[in-house]
Amino acid sequence: MSNALFCFFAFRTLLRRTIITACLGVVCNAAVAQVELVSPARDDPQRTELAEPFEIIDGIFFVGGRIHLPSYLFTTSEGHILLDTAFDENVSEIVANIRQLGFDPEDVKLLLSSHAHHDHVGGHSNMREITGAITVASAADADVIESGGATDFRDTGLWPPATVDRIIVDGEQVKLGDRVLTAHFTPGHTKGCTTWTTVVEEDGKQYDLVVLGGLNVNKTEPLIDNPRYPDMPQQFAWSFARLKVLPVDVYLGAHGYWYGLNEKREQMLAGGDTNPFIDPEGYQNAIRFFENAYLERLKNETYDDAE
Ligand SMILES: [Zn+2]
Repeated sequence: MSNALFCFFAFRTLLRRTIITACLGVVCNAAVAQVELVSPARDDPQRTELAEPFEIIDGIFFVGGRIHLPSYLFTTSEGHILLDTAFDENVSEIVANIRQLGFDPEDVKLLLSSHAHHDHVGGHSNMREITGAITVASAADADVIESGGATDFRDTGLWPPATVDRIIVDGEQVKLGDRVLTAHFTPGHTKGCTTWTTVVEEDGKQYDLVVLGGLNVNKTEPLIDNPRYPDMPQQFAWSFARLKVLPVDVYLGAHGYWYGLNEKREQMLAGGDTNPFIDPEGYQNAIRFFENAYLERLKNETYDDAE
């Protein structure tokens, strides 16, 4: 091996170990994750059965066709905001759920997304057509949404390409009527993955609400040295750091199992004094779970590949 080549490999290995050491330092300060978030099996009713729409809190409704694939309707005095459209085949279910709640799909004015994968933006094209809404996304995810997944760094799950009408930057606020949503870029799962926050009110108290964009390391792709996403490990680390300090009371996310949607929905239907979706501890536990899974992958890929 030439000296230059040796130096390159030595530097690369050192860099990886530096990242891991830095990240493990963070994990040592945190308690070991108390929760394990398990994705429902293929035949689980959370994936296969239609779910009834309901109000989560303060004019924010679950309208997704499936518990596993939530779409959220934020109603306002000037029309509505819809976050995520699931797969293309779920669009009719979401539209029916919006109608069932007594709202008109044509009053949806803004179409947002958690991240550019087929199970979250696959229905964007169809939904944009039905509602006439303006689509809003980060530049990195907009590129993938408009290509129908063809320009994604992973080769799975194409969908009907959808026009993105408005590009947002990190920290930008999206306003409609009396509702304000703030975009926090949390890249890693996709390059333009976006976590949305807003402030809600219940019983005279204000709460910080989050819709987590996505933190799973893609199973089909290498985390380290991915030529189509070279800085993926660093971007994940940055996302974890910023999400840990985000003020969160009400925890929602792009998949139901991330925050126990099924269980919390049942608790809510059973009645009770407090809204089960107010769960700051559940949020922190989930972030720790995802971070530990990421660190495990980082460690395995580093030492599997070590010279
Ligand atoms: Zn995804």
